[in-house]
Amino acid sequence: TLPVVAIVGRPNVGKSTLFNRIAGERIAIVEDKPGITRDRIYSKGDWSGRDFHLIDTGGLEFDQKDEVIQHIRQQAELAVEEADVILFVVDGREGVTATDQEVARMLHRSNKPVILAVNKLDHIKHHEEVYDFYQLGFDEPIAVSSIHGTGTGDVLDAVVNHL
Ligand code: GDP
Ligand code: MG
Repeated sequence: TLPVVAIVGRPNVGKSTLFNRIAGERIAIVEDKPGITRDRIYSKGDWSGRDFHLIDTGGLEFDQKDEVIQHIRQQAELAVEEADVILFVVDGREGVTATDQEVARMLHRSNKPVILAVNKLDHIKHHEEVYDFYQLGFDEPIAVSSIHGTGTGDVLDAVVNHL
């Protein structure tokens, strides 16, 4: 069986955009179970000759902030349980939020390898925004623009290093 890479993070940080970029056109299965797993999407990725399963999490919208947090936590916990490597995505333009810190605490407790992708840094002049994210306590945060595709190779290098 292939190793599993799970993409986690709060809504709107660009998880699905990054997922699509990594997965390319190979998105095979959209989960159709009711409940909290219905928006999880699986695909196969490969990089440097390593194959892995990729899980995207959390596509639902909520009005209540508490429900958002609860949903993220549930999704992230499920994904983390299954995962061999966690790809934690944050929004580099917004800086560290309370929800990012909450997700980070949960990921630290998992003791699994975490790659921190600081997304939406579309221009080189924004790359210094990564420094704020060292406070989350993971290895070197990686500047990424999922829209432009920059930094995604560095993310994948870091991911396959842990497979
Ligand atoms: P998710 O909720 O974490 O899955 O986030 P999405 O992938 O749905 O993206 C949320 C929004 O952020 C969308 O409007 C994306 O177009 C935008 N977005 C995603 N990645 C980037 C990026 O690298 N740069 C910019 N500027 N916007 C991005
Ligand atoms: Mg999404």
